[in-house]
Amino acid sequence: MTDSVATLYIDGAWVPSSTGDTRSIICPADGTDVGVVSEASTADTESAIAAARRAFDSRVWADRPAGERGDFLLDVAEQLRRRKDEFARAEALDTGKRLVEAEGDMDDIIACFRFFGKIADHDPGRLVDAGDNSVISRVVYEPIGVCGMITPWNFPLLQASWKIAPALAAGNSFVIKPAELTPHTTILILDVIDKLGLPAGVANLVLGDGGTVGAPLSSHPDIDLVSFTGGLVTGRKIAEAAAPGIKKVALELGGKNPNVVFADADFDAAVDNALNAGFVDSGLVCSAGTRLIVQDTIAEKFVDALVRRAEGIVMGGPLDENAETGPLISEAHRDKVTDYVKRGVDAGARLRTGGHWGGPEHEKGYFYAPTILDQCTKDNPAVIEEGFGPVITVETFSTEEEAVEIANHTEYGLAGAVWSSDAGTANRVSRRLRHGTIWINDYHPYVPQAEWGGFKMSGVGRELGLSGLDEYREAKHIYQNTEPAVSGWFPVKD
Ligand code: NAD
Repeated sequence: MTDSVATLYIDGAWVPSSTGDTRSIICPADGTDVGVVSEASTADTESAIAAARRAFDSRVWADRPAGERGDFLLDVAEQLRRRKDEFARAEALDTGKRLVEAEGDMDDIIACFRFFGKIADHDPGRLVDAGDNSVISRVVYEPIGVCGMITPWNFPLLQASWKIAPALAAGNSFVIKPAELTPHTTILILDVIDKLGLPAGVANLVLGDGGTVGAPLSSHPDIDLVSFTGGLVTGRKIAEAAAPGIKKVALELGGKNPNVVFADADFDAAVDNALNAGFVDSGLVCSAGTRLIVQDTIAEKFVDALVRRAEGIVMGGPLDENAETGPLISEAHRDKVTDYVKRGVDAGARLRTGGHWGGPEHEKGYFYAPTILDQCTKDNPAVIEEGFGPVITVETFSTEEEAVEIANHTEYGLAGAVWSSDAGTANRVSRRLRHGTIWINDYHPYVPQAEWGGFKMSGVGRELGLSGLDEYREAKHIYQNTEPAVSGWFPVKD
């Protein structure tokens, strides 16, 4: 990078915004400045799209053998491993999350690049039987073209890597826009890609807000696919903007994820993981288990234990070694969570713990205490809406049928968990939950080898797994007649 405010990466070069605009990034844990970045204009985004289009149309990357593209991703993974501390620190300062969490994210990011590096050439297509021995009929895969990528602030580089790695594996070009509040690790990965010598124009980065910089990525005629991770409301806007051009759209949206606990579950493990499900990373996880649905016979004891544990959680900044959870991302976000809890209580939920900002030692940051809302009904707004904060709502059930009904009573369908020591119960319930990931007797782990994505309003398409590569390629059927002959369909008349 030539200049601290030349942080847009367009056509293989680091450039400032054409307007000279910049944005200061602050750490939400204490308000400290963590850097100044370029703020792109719509014209900058259009330049980046044009560069990606030229690079794609030149076939400079698409025509590289898939195995070579895979090797490039393995090189990216190796650079990320070497620079892990630098990346984790940048991610922690931008988001306010604890350094140890950012380090864990880095391990997942490296695993993602390795996975797509290894499978880039796993499936070159297939021969199909056309029912005629003189015909060679095959299905091959082509990159989709120019991909627009828009990512959120909660897992900035993780969400970017789920898009960048398969897009490059499949031979696409792309323009990425990270969330305006958390740009640094996306800048850093473009630095890795630049230094490893990806051809100019294949990878491009623009920084700025959704309306100015993100919107063209979903509507511009030169974008072939828009892949978005973020909230439902924005996802809907993106789908609408992409519709007139019939662009391919991949959406990873929010969740309202049920954590269903049967009375026969391992009590201590279920309480402990209910805490993790809802409060890891301050609940700022799309798959956070914020809807605790617990069998009525153990509900009181379970919630009492959960409240006791939640009250012991220590909040603190990214570099505070005693901290167990961090802040929300901004003042506006904290106001939103405050209002969400208030509406939940107004609708009849009982506030068991939390429901307030951090203490005086946190006054420069946007902390919100781990919160538990008990005695919730399924139409309580706190149960229905994705609060996106450290808030667990509690509902109870008596029968298996009722547990399934409550857990599926949501417009979302991203993830959920079932806790039971009975394999039959766990299996039956997990098959009936309409959510894209189900954990049995666990919460949160995932692997890049398995698909991730949402049923219902949690999204369209899948990231990771083999489907995560397919999202970035088109299947093409090539039918080759090796013995061309007159068909005789229309008789020759003269
Ligand atoms: P958001 O929707 O506010 O913003 C996401 C991105 O969209 C940002 O880069 C933003 O600048 C951009 N954007 C905003 N308006 C736009 C527009 N009109 N056109 C184009 N781009 C626009 O989401 P957020 O608050 O950053 O992230 C939190 C949300 O993300 C939560 O709902 C969470 O559940 C979801 N999320 C989902 C997953 C998943 O895998 N399903 C993963 C992480 C986060």
